[in-house]
Amino acid sequence: MAQINLQPPAMPDGKKRIAVMTSGGDSPGMSGTVRAVVRQTIASGCMAFAVYEGYDGLVKGGDMIKEMGWEDVRGWLSEGGTLIGTARCAEFRERPGRLQAANNMIEKGIDALVICGGDGSLTGADKFRDEWPSLMEELVTKGLRSKEDVAPHMHLNIVGLVGSIDNDLSSTDATIGCYSSLTRICQSIDYIDATAFSHQRAFVVEVMGRHCGWLALMAGVSCGADFIFLPENPPTENWEEEMCTIVRRHRDMGKRKTIVIVAEGAHDRKLNHINPKMVKDLLSNKVGLDTRITTLGHVQRGGPPCAYDRMLSTLQGVEAVKAVLEATPETPSPVICIVENKIVRKDLIKAIQMTQQVAKDIEACDFDAAMKGRDAEFEEYWQAFNITTATDKSDMLLPTEKRLRVGIIHVGAPAGGMNAATRAAVAYCLTKGHTPVALHNGFPGLCRHHNDKPLGSVRDINWLDAEQWASRGGSEIGTNRGLPSEDMKTTAYCFDKYNIDALFVVGGFEAFTAVSELRKAREQYDAFKIPMVVLPATISNNVPGTEYSIGSDTCLNALIDYCDAIRQSASASRRRVFVVETQGGASGYIATIAGLSIGALAVYTPEEGIHLNMLVEDIKFLKEQFAKDVGHARSGKIILRNEKASKVFTTEIISDIIKHESGGRFDSKFAVPGHVQQGGIPSPMDRVRSVRFGVRSLQHLESFAGKSHQEIADDPMSAAIIGVRGSRVKFSPMERIEREETDWKDRRPKEEFWMNLIDIVDTLSGRPKGSRTP
Ligand code: ATP
Repeated sequence: MAQINLQPPAMPDGKKRIAVMTSGGDSPGMSGTVRAVVRQTIASGCMAFAVYEGYDGLVKGGDMIKEMGWEDVRGWLSEGGTLIGTARCAEFRERPGRLQAANNMIEKGIDALVICGGDGSLTGADKFRDEWPSLMEELVTKGLRSKEDVAPHMHLNIVGLVGSIDNDLSSTDATIGCYSSLTRICQSIDYIDATAFSHQRAFVVEVMGRHCGWLALMAGVSCGADFIFLPENPPTENWEEEMCTIVRRHRDMGKRKTIVIVAEGAHDRKLNHINPKMVKDLLSNKVGLDTRITTLGHVQRGGPPCAYDRMLSTLQGVEAVKAVLEATPETPSPVICIVENKIVRKDLIKAIQMTQQVAKDIEACDFDAAMKGRDAEFEEYWQAFNITTATDKSDMLLPTEKRLRVGIIHVGAPAGGMNAATRAAVAYCLTKGHTPVALHNGFPGLCRHHNDKPLGSVRDINWLDAEQWASRGGSEIGTNRGLPSEDMKTTAYCFDKYNIDALFVVGGFEAFTAVSELRKAREQYDAFKIPMVVLPATISNNVPGTEYSIGSDTCLNALIDYCDAIRQSASASRRRVFVVETQGGASGYIATIAGLSIGALAVYTPEEGIHLNMLVEDIKFLKEQFAKDVGHARSGKIILRNEKASKVFTTEIISDIIKHESGGRFDSKFAVPGHVQQGGIPSPMDRVRSVRFGVRSLQHLESFAGKSHQEIADDPMSAAIIGVRGSRVKFSPMERIEREETDWKDRRPKEEFWMNLIDIVDTLSGRPKGSRTP
């Protein structure tokens, strides 16, 4: 290395040169991370750099470390893989490689690095940070840099982002890319399902995950697999017999297809590898099934990121830059994580240590410890999987007096995951000895049954019925917006007549309202002095008591697919803006999160409304944007407008105003995706969360078994709502949520956690501050 004296000028106080890098195996969402880091860096008045090809680029330096401009990352949010490349770099594992990397960074004046990669990449990053002061000294001793050169850079600031399809980092619920990969796996298994059903075949599907069974577990939960093999929790010693017995039992109950999912790193309890061929041979020879193997391979890494990964990569990229700017030399390096619904910073080293510990526990065959080393959610999904596939759990049956007849009812518009939740509830009931009773077509369906003749609208559900519902959209038991107040007396009569001891209500704001009405009507009707739980399921995500309703993720995915297609058309035609109308009722959640996930120019929500000044500012901004759009640089802009954002400024009118005001410099169209937003097949996230919340809801209802009507009525938790609140999943009493947290007029929560995310949409689109001020 020769001494290079060129040194970039010092940055103004508080400003930095921040580099972003992707490393290790690629994952969908990495490009979105780079976009978010670059734009947030520039928006913070700092300089952004990208290191191309992972640590390889850092070691090589020169053009591999490039300054990035705002426009350089345009459109990256929807791209799969990583557009700045990734590589495995042996040189960086050795000190001379890291010395060279440090020299290259000093040359560019960079001392802050955001790294998106797996645990290996983050381990390397932390080692680099740890050694940094000594690397600086060595550069000076070797005469490669002067003391003055290194003096402003004596501390290296590292922030980790976890990009990995395996979801193998302890401390975070999800890594960037894991839900996209799960989406790909579930799509494939859904396709396989149809052919398996037709020919009554068995399929053994191998999915990625050398040390981590998250993908296998979640695919098993969302697709209703018959058996799964995970590295953390191998099957019993007698697994061959166990698997064959379960599969045989499912077939005896009438199942026409069999799906077994094998994680790449599956093994038995003595660490002997279990491969798909072994499983296939057993299913063919012992159970006599026509069995095929499907190895999904790299398909699992490819394709565009799903809505959740786009949101996660964006929010985490923004948070990483904030962490860089807030760090002091004493701050331990953070890794940006998500816990339920909350983006949090955690200690990078501890997260890596915990992750590596799981691998060690597996090696030591300490599988209990390995399961504990994953997050609590992992264990919960494992239990949920077992409950939903169990057909003989005589040891789990409750005594007769504790068994309930559980009414299951869907209320409101269909939402992805309603069926999966019902399937989980049914399976749970049957495992514990309860009777699941479908109340078809909502409350009007129930009352109609009574008034006319029996139409089969109240029916016990059997395992096989529900078993097929894991991946189905819509509502298999039928849903209806009608409320019990339309005929409270008959509703109570029916509850009595069918001996409903507990009620599981799946739906949106109407479901919430229905349980509120039933709770209040307990004074008149003893029939309602039973435990009731609402599981929020609506694409609008406007139910008080939760930050997440099942179905909203399916909706976001439908919406981003739609917007991706529209944007492509807009950019192909050059200089076109689309005003897209989203659903969501009086809640701007869907518009805002979709705005984050597609990189919308602006979002218009009912909470903020639309005013003239907003349109004036946005049109000015559009003119500036299109003025930059020269040569081959094409761009399509999207504005998302919630259906109730304004009574005056309709989607069409806004589009017309924009067109009129553009002075012919660009075109504007409007688009209304409408019911497309309910989605077809529910997203894997909605499916797995439905199962988890469904099982939890039933456990909650069950906790009231054996109590008197009065004891139940006196307990505020006997009418409850299950929800995600910050970093926790919890039940809240309806009574308090109705009173304190509900905006009844606008049918939404009083406080909406996502409102400040509109600022991030604006920051990343470059929309000038103040555009939203009336
Ligand atoms: P994946 O989850 O896809 O395996 P990863 O980040 O764990 O991603 P690795 O191949 O383990 O992937 O690491 C990527 C790169 O990080 C390595 O090629 C190497 O350059 C660097 N790296 C990994 N571990 C270390 C280490 N202990 N010291 C220095 N550098 C490391």
